[in-house]
Amino acid sequence: MSVLVVGSIALDTVKTPVEEHSNLLGGSASYAAAAASFFSPVKLVGVVGNDFPDSEFEFWKSRKIDSEGVQRVNGKTFRWSGEYSWDLNMRETRSIALNVFENFQPKLPGSYRKTDFVLLANIAPTLQSHVLDQMEQPRFVVADTMDLWIETTRADLDALLPRVDLLILNDSEAREMTKETSLIKAGRRIRKSGPRYVAIKKGEHGALLFGDDEFFSCGAYPLEDIHDPTGAGDTFAGGIAGYLAGTVKTVHFTDLRKAMIYGSVLASFAVEAFSLERLRKLSTDEIKERYETFKLMSQFEVTA
Ligand code: AMP
Repeated sequence: MSVLVVGSIALDTVKTPVEEHSNLLGGSASYAAAAASFFSPVKLVGVVGNDFPDSEFEFWKSRKIDSEGVQRVNGKTFRWSGEYSWDLNMRETRSIALNVFENFQPKLPGSYRKTDFVLLANIAPTLQSHVLDQMEQPRFVVADTMDLWIETTRADLDALLPRVDLLILNDSEAREMTKETSLIKAGRRIRKSGPRYVAIKKGEHGALLFGDDEFFSCGAYPLEDIHDPTGAGDTFAGGIAGYLAGTVKTVHFTDLRKAMIYGSVLASFAVEAFSLERLRKLSTDEIKERYETFKLMSQFEVTA
């Protein structure tokens, strides 16, 4: 089964203490679609301007990412610029230019409307809802969000949550949303506002998953060399949604546990290089190998 991915498609400028690169392919949907495409066909929805390179459409084609739902309109592509400190968990947004994103209204091609799995990658919650309005009863909806929407469009986000099966957000966003210091309380409380499942990301410390009476905690794959953390969260979400779409019909908690590990594995590759450069070169064998290593590392009872 395929997965519909909607979100931002951007040209990024990223500065770390050691390197700076501009005009990089970025955006929540770009990372998420690339990650998902390792497991299932992807239908991409987004908007780009006439400065957006044709080569990226070729890349999508090569990865079985259908770009019929990507509108190319007059104007400039959405641009984002961020700077990391030596602690790569700390990032400052230097500038944002919405450009063609400002008037973006996602419009689903007819062939997209019956897609079973949906990933609403990070964009304004009204746009995420607008995509769901055009769909015919998707089986499983994953949504990502960010602090900006919690702070500025809370009512829209609250209206979306009951339509979401799995909400993914990071630890500070979960705390901000619930005003709870405990992530366990925060996860449980967010579930009560709608989503059947909630995943809370803790950066290099892993992630937590909350279900009905179920709970799962996983670490992050330990890496020595991180070059660019941009898009790690979007890649994590894309890996989860793609794995579910490509592997299961009805999603159970055990599937979500596995999906979270695959999401973490994909995210660990994404941060090894700037932009999507590592994902572009990645093979399914490398994913499988890292998944197995990660599994072994997570075992706490070992038989001799
Ligand atoms: P992450 O590192 O997971 O927060 O994702 C970074 C990506 O999100 C970058 O490639 C940006 O282009 C994109 N981005 C930044 N701000 C926004 C926004 N307000 N809405 C949608 N996407 C954004």
